[in-house]
Amino acid sequence: MFPFLLVFLLSFSWKTNASTQPVEQFLHCLSLRSGNSSITKLVYTRHNSSYSSVLNSSAQNFRFITPSSPTPLAIITPLRPSHVQATVYCCRKHGLQLRTRSGGHDFEGLSYSATSCNVPFVVIDLANLRSVRVDVEKAAAWVESGATIGELYYEIARKSATLAFPAGIGHTIGIGGHLSGGGYGSIFRKYGLAADNVIDSRLIDVRGRILDRKSMGEDLFWAIRGGGGGSFGIVLAWKLKLVPVPANLTACSVTKTLEQNATELVHRWQSIGHILPKEVHMSFAISRANSSVDGTMTVQASFGSVFLGNINELIPLMEEKFPELGLSKQDCFEMSWAESILYSALFTTGLPLETLLNRTQVSPLSKLFFKAKSDFVKRPGTRIRRIVAQVLRGRYFDPKYRKYFDPK
Ligand SMILES: Cc1cc2nc3c(=O)[nH]c(=O)nc-3n(C[C@H](O)[C@H](O)[C@H](O)COP(=O)(O)OP(=O)(O)OC[C@H]3O[C@@H](n4cnc5c(N)ncnc54)[C@H](O)[C@@H]3O)c2cc1C
Repeated sequence: MFPFLLVFLLSFSWKTNASTQPVEQFLHCLSLRSGNSSITKLVYTRHNSSYSSVLNSSAQNFRFITPSSPTPLAIITPLRPSHVQATVYCCRKHGLQLRTRSGGHDFEGLSYSATSCNVPFVVIDLANLRSVRVDVEKAAAWVESGATIGELYYEIARKSATLAFPAGIGHTIGIGGHLSGGGYGSIFRKYGLAADNVIDSRLIDVRGRILDRKSMGEDLFWAIRGGGGGSFGIVLAWKLKLVPVPANLTACSVTKTLEQNATELVHRWQSIGHILPKEVHMSFAISRANSSVDGTMTVQASFGSVFLGNINELIPLMEEKFPELGLSKQDCFEMSWAESILYSALFTTGLPLETLLNRTQVSPLSKLFFKAKSDFVKRPGTRIRRIVAQVLRGRYFDPKYRKYFDPK
């Protein structure tokens, strides 16, 4: 696996003098390689009036689309696998780095930016390769990488009320990057990560070959499911195992401020969240809020949960396991699994399922300047008090960008 990774990275960057190569040579190569000139209509260079809007279309983080951000020499928007093969070939031939973009949610903008302005690169944007085929009988689906998880969820829900796929909450996330990195959401305690439920895939390797699970071998198949997008090749499509869910499940949300013992509740959650039955997923988000006391600021913890069962089963369970939270029927709603995705992301009920098809952000995490990273703690209580204190002081945000979060 590691030699393969090295070959891939080196192959895309070995001609360091590529900045002297005119983009025209790359474009010429593309049209020759794709067999006809049709691919040129799918290419956007800096001279094209749509270049910026295509580049920014799914760039989710404003940090990487400032006037000084490095921009690609060209953006390719393939309609067919052969267009992807041609792009891989021509990037290698002309020493250009290749960035693959599915949904553009990369926390460091790796799918549409570069670390330096001296790195000539091309973006291949898979947004046009986004078909979803659901086979209810076999509880399986083939989904192309350029689909969002919302598009996948919508298609599953359209075909079956009792099948689901265990992936993330943010429905605008791209399948390509999400499955490459793992992917967790509200039913992962029961069914594992999105990547755990991939049963086959179609990958284009550095030589432009299209490989499936059998021809790529189990090592590479293992690596592309969690090893990080962009490291091993371009995944065109994934075959997924769908999982059973009740036609109605329960989603709840309850918010507590510091004055209502939020810190203690978060501590308590750390001790019991992982030992609750696997049908329950409970998470929390902490944020600043106006306090009811003197109009000062406070911190609130919003506990969201999804339970694969009904309200009447959940309430006694929570009264037994987590009575301090005081979860009541009024905090909960019964709904379908697909509706619970929208509820978990947007904390509102009654939205049409078509909201899942919206490829641009509709959540409070709308396109923003932001810095995000994931952390995994092994022991309870390690840093919660410090984080709460930092949120209260507004220090959790990079001062450079704070104005975008908190204009006051
Ligand atoms: C608002 C928001 C909400 C989120 N919610 C969740 C969540 O609920 N659960 C969760 O687990 N994560 C979540 N994430 C993290 C998200 O899963 C990752 O950032 C993921 O990598 C995004 O995939 P993408 O296709 O949208 O991103 P992209 O930026 O397109 O790609 C991410 C990386 O994968 C590479 N890549 C993309 N497509 C391919 C491909 N077809 N083949 C090979 N490499 C590829 C890119 O080059 C890049 O390195 C969230 C992120 C954001 C910004």
